[in-house]
Amino acid sequence: MELKNLSLQIPESNLPRVVIVGGGFAGLELAKGLKHASVQVVMLDRNNYHTFQPLLYQVATSGLEPDSIAGPLRKVFDGFKDFYFRMVKVDRIDHLSSTIETPIGNLSYDYLVLACGSKANFFGLEHIRRKSFPLKQVVHALNLRSQILQNFEKAVLTRDKSEKDALMNFVVVGGGPTGVEVAGALGELKNHVLPNDFPDLDFNDMEIHLIEGTSRLLGDMSSFAGAKAKKYLQKFNTNIILNRLVKNYDGQLVYLDNGDTITTQTLIWAAGVQGNLVDGVPETSTEGNRILVDQYNRVAGVDNIFAIGDLAVYKNQDYPKGHPMVAQVAIQQGRRLARNLAAHLAGKSWKPFEYKDKGSMATIGRNKAVVDLPTGMHFGGFVAWLIWMFVHLFALIGFRNKMVTFINWLWSYLTFDKGNRLIIRKFDRDKTSPVEAV
Ligand SMILES: Cc1cc2nc3c(=O)[nH]c(=O)nc-3n(C[C@H](O)[C@H](O)[C@H](O)COP(=O)(O)OP(=O)(O)OC[C@H]3O[C@@H](n4cnc5c(N)ncnc54)[C@H](O)[C@@H]3O)c2cc1C
Repeated sequence: MELKNLSLQIPESNLPRVVIVGGGFAGLELAKGLKHASVQVVMLDRNNYHTFQPLLYQVATSGLEPDSIAGPLRKVFDGFKDFYFRMVKVDRIDHLSSTIETPIGNLSYDYLVLACGSKANFFGLEHIRRKSFPLKQVVHALNLRSQILQNFEKAVLTRDKSEKDALMNFVVVGGGPTGVEVAGALGELKNHVLPNDFPDLDFNDMEIHLIEGTSRLLGDMSSFAGAKAKKYLQKFNTNIILNRLVKNYDGQLVYLDNGDTITTQTLIWAAGVQGNLVDGVPETSTEGNRILVDQYNRVAGVDNIFAIGDLAVYKNQDYPKGHPMVAQVAIQQGRRLARNLAAHLAGKSWKPFEYKDKGSMATIGRNKAVVDLPTGMHFGGFVAWLIWMFVHLFALIGFRNKMVTFINWLWSYLTFDKGNRLIIRKFDRDKTSPVEAV
């Protein structure tokens, strides 16, 4: 039955209304920080859950179930007063009338905070956009998981060598943390998991290629981390191709800028992100697909609109190109803006955002990770891997998710197994592009 009488149904209030678009890292911290402020808070998100993106690759490679890395937003805000969550996509804002527009109606705001995060950047390469697998949402991870498992089920069946190669080859584009982590997890599957499931396949035939446009892996981390990651991946026989750009992909062949080609049914795109810009933000306040903000995360040229997290660019002396698009920046901006809005409503002054860098890390399979500390210290190996695990475990939403993830990881560690190798929903890339199958 088509419902024709839908509307946002937000009650009028005497308190100023803060509308937050996006329940990601930034939006979540902001809304939590406003719990005791004298405001009505309305959070709008196209999903009813928060996604812990740093572990999407584990869902894609059968290490974790999707529910472990996502948390229902309504549960987070259980017991909050004058808080309203609505699952709806915001299409547009009208800053002149202070209104947001959604498919089921408009809503006025006193303060609007855009925390819509980012999406994959295909740099205008349309064929790649339609055929490759990005990793930005839970649904993307599930598409990729199905694809990987379906490939091996098909590889058992085909008599044709070139078909088998295309099914068993994986190409990962982008040598940042996501690309490195996906390639490492594929290496784990190849070494420890899939050979038991498919004894009739020769896993020497499974190739993992990691392609990076610059001269080293983990370009935003130390050169120590980049070199270590390379060494770890080479232990899985990953073919690391540096200084090469991917120019095209037809679903079967990947075309590199030097004319080389690689056969694969699965191209994983981890080569870049861009802001999830909503229509109606004044063009003068944007750069690329992101929103220019000042030290209070206020959108340039508009007084009552803010942007936080991946979508926002705040340039200062220390970060002339803006801050890195990572969870800590989003979390800290959300918290700072909550304090500033509460202070503002109490007649107090604003404090500028200052980023406290807590370091960065990436993992490349069992017992292998790299950590860069803000002190300039770097290390790798087992200790780095333990730190990576505990930092991610404690950052997950909710006790249940932490427990389930911990048990999954412990089980995998002891048994060399990954428990989530189910093709629940078959994925057919010829019918739907992976990026659109949401
Ligand atoms: C695979 C992967 C691995 C990563 N690993 C790390 C890591 O190890 N460490 C790290 O610090 N960072 C990592 N990041 C980056 C980190 O996840 C982001 O920096 C962070 O999620 C940004 O937070 P955000 O709140 O700005 O956006 P998000 O967390 O992306 O949240 C945006 C929210 O907005 C909603 N939304 C978007 N558009 C609309 C709309 N029009 N209407 C309604 N809702 C909308 C989305 O549904 C989403 O819930 C990783 C990212 C990816 C993709």
